[in-house]
Amino acid sequence: MTRQDESNSTLSRRHFLGGAVAGVAAGALDAAPLGAEQAQEAVQEMRTDVVVCGSGIGGLTAAVRAQQAGARVIVLEKAYEAGGTTAHSEGVVWTSESYEQIRETSPHGDPVVQRTIFDNLPRAFDFYDDLGAPLGAARPGRTRSRAIPPVAWVNFMVDEFERGGGTLMVETAMLRVLTNSSYEVIGVLAEGEQGLIRILARSVVLATGGWAGSAQLVTQNITRYYSSLHQRNASFGGRKPSLTGDGFWAATQIGAAPTEGGWDGFYGHGMPARPTKQMQNPLTNYSTYHGNWSVVVNLHGRRFADETQGKQAGTPRGGGEQLINQEVARQPEATATYIWDEPVNARRACAACGLGDIDKFIAFKDIGAPVATANTLEELTAQMEAWGRGIPAAVVQQQLDEYNKAAKNGKAWALPVPKMIEAQATPLAQPPFYAVMVQAGITATYGGLRVNAQGQVLSRTLRPIRGLYAAGVDIGNHSTYVYLGNLCVGAVFGYISGPNAANQPEPRGGWETGPLN
Ligand SMILES: Cc1cc2nc3c(=O)[nH]c(=O)nc-3n(C[C@H](O)[C@H](O)[C@H](O)COP(=O)(O)OP(=O)(O)OC[C@H]3O[C@@H](n4cnc5c(N)ncnc54)[C@H](O)[C@@H]3O)c2cc1C
Repeated sequence: MTRQDESNSTLSRRHFLGGAVAGVAAGALDAAPLGAEQAQEAVQEMRTDVVVCGSGIGGLTAAVRAQQAGARVIVLEKAYEAGGTTAHSEGVVWTSESYEQIRETSPHGDPVVQRTIFDNLPRAFDFYDDLGAPLGAARPGRTRSRAIPPVAWVNFMVDEFERGGGTLMVETAMLRVLTNSSYEVIGVLAEGEQGLIRILARSVVLATGGWAGSAQLVTQNITRYYSSLHQRNASFGGRKPSLTGDGFWAATQIGAAPTEGGWDGFYGHGMPARPTKQMQNPLTNYSTYHGNWSVVVNLHGRRFADETQGKQAGTPRGGGEQLINQEVARQPEATATYIWDEPVNARRACAACGLGDIDKFIAFKDIGAPVATANTLEELTAQMEAWGRGIPAAVVQQQLDEYNKAAKNGKAWALPVPKMIEAQATPLAQPPFYAVMVQAGITATYGGLRVNAQGQVLSRTLRPIRGLYAAGVDIGNHSTYVYLGNLCVGAVFGYISGPNAANQPEPRGGWETGPLN
């Protein structure tokens, strides 16, 4: 795994056009005058070939690819800097080495999306290599896994894009997609520091990173405890949520189809519950990766789910801790306590054995989350009760005794709440014992827009919406429950959607906005 390159830890920030739009338009844009009716609401007007909404891996890949195909491109970025969650990530752009395995792991996912990613990921890597983008070498036998140094990669792509004449407008959010009366996409309405901007374009690529920060969508689909979730994404650090489903809302507003699956699944990891100090990057320091090796109880002190999610994962090794994190999200206050013993501490929760530069227990303690450590389980559960969060020591003790008895006999699978994967169902036997309180972290959502293999967004009658493309996590149903990687969705669909958007013909129905607007 790569670490973010310290020397490249500052992201590109490109201010919104300071003066008149026309002044900056040279090369990239025509400030072609629009009809009076079109200009009615817009403060400013612009015209280009392709508008890309979002500047994570999906948006930047699409933008540079569209530019290479000869298009004039504008990238809109709602946040004050480029990069989105991509810039916070570990940067491993991966999918499985076998399509069959993808289908086995995520049988309810969209086979078109999964197949497209599987087939095209090596081509996307070739594209980055040809461009000279920072990209780690392929490991032997791994054709579908390469690592980007996230911040350096984002900066490289932004520079490349701007060198090619593209315009990145930060603090400028796409508000809606514009269509003409023939139901063709003809641009977007955006809002920046100076107000509304109407940008006419032959095509639009939605790459706004999904809806992890949409209270409405998360509450409807994932958990009623939205406000207790850690935003483990571009909104980290108390920033205003930026991943608010804008691409999804804009597309469905004009008739796009939501995916059939993935709505209650998401990718994320546990993070410290109610820390008293501000967490800093890298996020991996404060992310747990050993929930599946722990015993996990909720605020009532009870186990509530198979920590390995063995049955649901459908793989002998389980689906990793992101599955128990999904279950924690649905517990009261999206909160749980992970309990583990010394062997798990040494092999699964240490600085060197997971992601992050610090032992997990120490990280949680340092940041002020409730933690406990003791040489007996009785002492540990007493400390948990003393956190004052209503966890009854007697209930936890009973749960641990029941679990330990079953695990020692290799029968954790037979518990009322089973733990199915035997290798991870080890008894809590060797002191010291550890407990930390976690709140679920949400990184990326799995439900989203339905697309075809060309990256075109499909309507609710499953026809491509002319001029509308997507890339990245805005595309749904790649993963549904078990995690199949996210950066790959941006790399592949940016790679595909970019040139397709660039080659989109002029709208047959003209540039006048139609009744949907
Ligand atoms: C700690 C961590 C480690 C990770 N490691 C990995 C890993 O190793 N491998 C992996 O596959 N995944 C990893 N991920 C997940 C992955 O980083 C993201 O899911 C992925 O980067 C999403 O890419 P994207 O282009 O779809 O969206 P983003 O990178 O989030 O970009 C979307 C952008 O759109 C902008 N936006 C939103 N709304 C609008 C609007 N209305 N107008 C204009 N702009 C808008 C947002 O501000 C944002 O900048 C990790 C995530 C984290 C937090």
